[in-house]
Amino acid sequence: MELKCILTFYLRRETINMTTQADTRLNRLPERGSQNFELACSIIDEARICHVGFTLKGQTYVIPMALGRKGNQLLLHGSVVSRLIRNLAGGVPCCVTVTHLDGLVLARSAFHSSMNYRSVMVFGTARLVNDPEEKQRGLDALVEHLVPGRMSELRDSTRKELNATSLLSLPIETFSVKSRNGPPSDAATDISAAVWAGIIPLELKAGDPEDAPDMVEKIPLPDYLK
Ligand SMILES: Cc1cc2nc3c(=O)[nH]c(=O)nc-3n(C[C@H](O)[C@H](O)[C@H](O)COP(=O)(O)OP(=O)(O)OC[C@H]3O[C@@H](n4cnc5c(N)ncnc54)[C@H](O)[C@@H]3O)c2cc1C
Repeated sequence: MELKCILTFYLRRETINMTTQADTRLNRLPERGSQNFELACSIIDEARICHVGFTLKGQTYVIPMALGRKGNQLLLHGSVVSRLIRNLAGGVPCCVTVTHLDGLVLARSAFHSSMNYRSVMVFGTARLVNDPEEKQRGLDALVEHLVPGRMSELRDSTRKELNATSLLSLPIETFSVKSRNGPPSDAATDISAAVWAGIIPLELKAGDPEDAPDMVEKIPLPDYLK
């Protein structure tokens, strides 16, 4: 019986996502998981930063980066000489993770304390975007992802700037979403404890804009930043 369980476990793992070797099925708390594409995109769209994991010569690296999205493509950019960019463009598989921490969940015991969060993991092999028009559109999308409206007043990038920058496109095809929200789930025996329990909501908020010290004249804050 035990052997059957072990075999089933490994067979299940082996049959998932043969194209990327990635196991996107949640083993822990699967009820918190989803494979919903729109949900994954909404989590990606709210993020300004992702973490890109990849392995080179047996060493795994996880690098923070800006991100963007165009349709079903997650976009990353960086210097043409970046190690990460060169290797991912060369076919090294990666895993891009986006996380929003929405709150601390304080239960009446350390064991049942938790976090409210939304996260997505996208697995695959990125493609280096070579077509100049697609690259330009992708880089614009990245800027707009970070600061919607910004492209309306920025000058065009020069050829030199474009040549110094690489754009990678990763299909949002093999992915998983996991999230938690709601109050603590305490053990019934702890409910009567004289301990505060509840949620401390957390969110990322923009502060007041600060003028660049070398701005030659006072330029009013554009509407898209208000
Ligand atoms: C919020 C944020 C957003 C970023 N967005 C981008 C982006 O969109 N595009 C981009 O190209 N880069 C971005 N960076 C910088 C990025 O994290 C890398 O530093 C950069 O891409 C160089 O990568 P590489 O593989 O060529 O690093 P290398 O310089 O080859 O890395 C060598 C070693 O330096 C160390 N290292 C590299 N980066 C970091 C780091 N961020 N923190 C601590 N140690 C580090 C590691 O030990 C690494 O193994 C961002 C960084 C942050 C914090």
